[in-house]
Amino acid sequence: MLYEPTGYDHRDWPQSYWRASCVGLPAFPPLDGETQAEVAIIGAGYAGLNAALELVEQHSANVAVLEAAQPGWGASGRNGGFCCLGGARLDAGQITRRLGQDAATEWNRFTHDAIARVQDNLTRYQIDAQTTEPGELTLAASPRAWAKLQAETLDEGAARLDRNALREAGLNSSTYLGGVYNRAGFGLHPYAYVTGLARAAQTAGVRLHGDSRVTRITPQAGHWRLDTATGSVVARQVLVASNGYSNEHLVPWLARRILPAISNVMVTRPLTQQELEAQGWTRHLMGYDTRFLLHYFRLLPDNRMMYGARGGLSFEPVSVAQFAQRARAEFDLTFPHFKQAETEFSWNGLVCMTATRAPFIGPVPAQKGLWLALGWHGNGVAAASEGGRCAARAMIGNTQAVPALARRPLPRFVAPRKWALAAAMAVAGLIDGPMKARA
Ligand SMILES: Cc1cc2nc3c(=O)[nH]c(=O)nc-3n(C[C@H](O)[C@H](O)[C@H](O)COP(=O)(O)OP(=O)(O)OC[C@H]3O[C@@H](n4cnc5c(N)ncnc54)[C@H](O)[C@@H]3O)c2cc1C
Repeated sequence: MLYEPTGYDHRDWPQSYWRASCVGLPAFPPLDGETQAEVAIIGAGYAGLNAALELVEQHSANVAVLEAAQPGWGASGRNGGFCCLGGARLDAGQITRRLGQDAATEWNRFTHDAIARVQDNLTRYQIDAQTTEPGELTLAASPRAWAKLQAETLDEGAARLDRNALREAGLNSSTYLGGVYNRAGFGLHPYAYVTGLARAAQTAGVRLHGDSRVTRITPQAGHWRLDTATGSVVARQVLVASNGYSNEHLVPWLARRILPAISNVMVTRPLTQQELEAQGWTRHLMGYDTRFLLHYFRLLPDNRMMYGARGGLSFEPVSVAQFAQRARAEFDLTFPHFKQAETEFSWNGLVCMTATRAPFIGPVPAQKGLWLALGWHGNGVAAASEGGRCAARAMIGNTQAVPALARRPLPRFVAPRKWALAAAMAVAGLIDGPMKARA
């Protein structure tokens, strides 16, 4: 594990705003004794649950999902609820240069399909995930970033807004110089979404076990045996869908092939109408900025402001508190009229990157039947949902189900990852510079 054990302690579930504002499900019971399945899935987040639903509903497979804590304990229950495009750290030009135009087009289609997948899941399984107005806003944090946004060709339905236009649209901040609105995506309640998926999976016949951390995976007569403290499952195929919380000892091939990174979220008390109007930020649109260590934020349906910030290198309480303090200072600078609104919730979690800067969905080389679906690069609400479905289809034998970008071999990180991350963050911090209030 790259970080301190506290970051992975399944007995400890941070009291996020999401858990406080959603009636959860009764705990799923632990695995009890020895059992068999056609497919065993490790991790009950968006990826694991979507894979399970696809396998059961489309292929009538016998599926067991093993979750170390309870569904949504990982990033799927803690994120910012941006159901948006993304999943890789490569733009269309970079994908074209690496894999060709077709792969870039295919990936673009995947990211749009992924949003549609979430919408379809919400409708089909009748999940009330408190979705917000469609679209998202990219906000320029520096003159250079604004010049770049101004030079970009806009997608269909997109619009460029300078500071005045932002102000008129109810999107006024003190730090951003302009922005681009894109109409893809929407905000949602991430924990309501993941618990809705868990309920749907159970209804569909998936055997879902909570408090069932897999401690060992061993080959057994052409199958795989998964052990937990209270039982074992023998399955022909296994999907590891544990993303940033993956234990590299469990699947030794994974060692140094993933880079978990910390993301942090805070939520204020509900803002009054007066505060919202004084600031001039009255919309419930998703927004994020152009900084390398990006901030992402949105007004929640009950008028609390949610503010997320990537960064931090440790789960030690002192480091976490320092980072939260810095993020709060940046929030206050951006939204000075919300300064009086105290932070009521603050938590963090792990996202997962790879050296290809893209997700990996595929088999572990030379380990027949053992599959991985991970590496959503901090944008997994949509991508992990669709990625889990693609993984399921690939496991059933559809080799073209996974986009070429996510089929690329997963290389090891060459440099020690903590150092590389620390160096990357230091460079990013220098390039970003301090946040500035603009007149
Ligand atoms: C703070 C934060 C904010 C984010 N904001 C956004 C956002 O706004 N929009 C967006 O698109 N993405 C966001 N993300 C990323 C997104 O949440 C993830 O990409 C996505 O949830 C990953 O889903 P997953 O199912 O692959 O993994 P996870 O949801 O992390 O699930 C993995 C599960 O595996 C379980 N597990 C691990 N090891 C074992 C084991 N040995 N045995 C059994 N179970 C095990 C864990 O307990 C965990 O529940 C954010 C992430 C964080 C942390």
